[in-house]
Amino acid sequence: MPSPQELKQEKEKLQKVIAEVKEGVIIVDPQQNVSLMNKSAEEITGHGSVEALGKPIGHILTVLDNEKEVHPDTYCPVSGVKLEGIVYEKDNLQLVSKKEEIKVVNLKAQKMKDGMEMGVGCILTIEDTFAQSELERMKLDFVAMSVHVLRTPLSILKGYLSYLTKRETLQKLNETEADYLKNSVVSTDELVYLVDNLLDLTELQASGFRISPIPLDLDKAVQSVVYEFKPFADAKMLEIIYAPSLSELPLVYADATRLKIVLRNLISNAIKFTDGGSVEITVAQESSDFLKVTVKDTGRGIPEKNLPHLFKKFYRVKEALEMETGRGLGLYVSKEIVGSHGGKIGVESKEGVGSTFWFTIPVYKERK
Ligand code: ADP
Repeated sequence: MPSPQELKQEKEKLQKVIAEVKEGVIIVDPQQNVSLMNKSAEEITGHGSVEALGKPIGHILTVLDNEKEVHPDTYCPVSGVKLEGIVYEKDNLQLVSKKEEIKVVNLKAQKMKDGMEMGVGCILTIEDTFAQSELERMKLDFVAMSVHVLRTPLSILKGYLSYLTKRETLQKLNETEADYLKNSVVSTDELVYLVDNLLDLTELQASGFRISPIPLDLDKAVQSVVYEFKPFADAKMLEIIYAPSLSELPLVYADATRLKIVLRNLISNAIKFTDGGSVEITVAQESSDFLKVTVKDTGRGIPEKNLPHLFKKFYRVKEALEMETGRGLGLYVSKEIVGSHGGKIGVESKEGVGSTFWFTIPVYKERK
């Protein structure tokens, strides 16, 4: 049996070890009270370890999953069976810090063999998805700055080029010259699209994927984006169909600007990768907590093997590499945006038949 002195030394050793871990670590005792907490956990939760010690974990850690609070019994079950290993693991939860800041975190809870006897109910690791290294921050600042600087001359170039593509000007050019001009327009559009997506991404990352949601009419947001894209669909002789839901839908709780970025990315892809037929957008009630937007096209479809990678940064299906436009950022940005709202994004697709991209967005719930 170790002496109290030895136990104290062991505890100090353990404290030193977990202090070095870059993730937040909280050790919870079998009564669900905090028994140890490292510096990162203090930073993430905003609670000092001295004040937190002995307090119920639910008082120190407030995490929400899709706006609903996750109960300590869920992430750190104490009663019943003797569990071992990982008992809870979830990414992109919203943590409400002591200062009421919302942070996006990944939370993992582990149980130790014989933990209960040793006074360890569970070990929580919390990863703040925004806690980037200084170098990453510098990289991000550099990209953000370059992208901002690029945006203005690009808009000017696009303006001049669209002026030159007026019919009167085109008529003065021979066929090759007109082709050169058209190609310049396509490449400039591609650059503008890329710069815009990079801007979205850097802004989103700079804010730590934090969003400013408001109660919003999803139907209206979709309608306005569909309206924006009508000329592009018309130019490709595609039918763009938006049938608002027949039943009255509740408001969603979303960041209007960012929600539109997702809609634009999905609708522009649907038009870009469809050469005949239609693009159909619907909004429906997915559950009492979520609405679902679906963008269905009758385009080229996506080979099954590519589906799991689509939402990764800079991923493009091989065939799309031969096309002039796009750089594989739109879906990644969209996934990050939908995720920071607590929603999900996905796709079903069949090669040669078409693709259906969808995402869910939380319903606005009045807090009483
Ligand atoms: P981008 O369109 O800029 O290349 P995205 O991230 O938006 O980047 O899309 C990644 C890739 O996914 C595209 O290059 C394309 O290969 C594929 N893709 C996306 N949407 C569709 C769609 N509706 N139909 C077929 N392929 C698609």
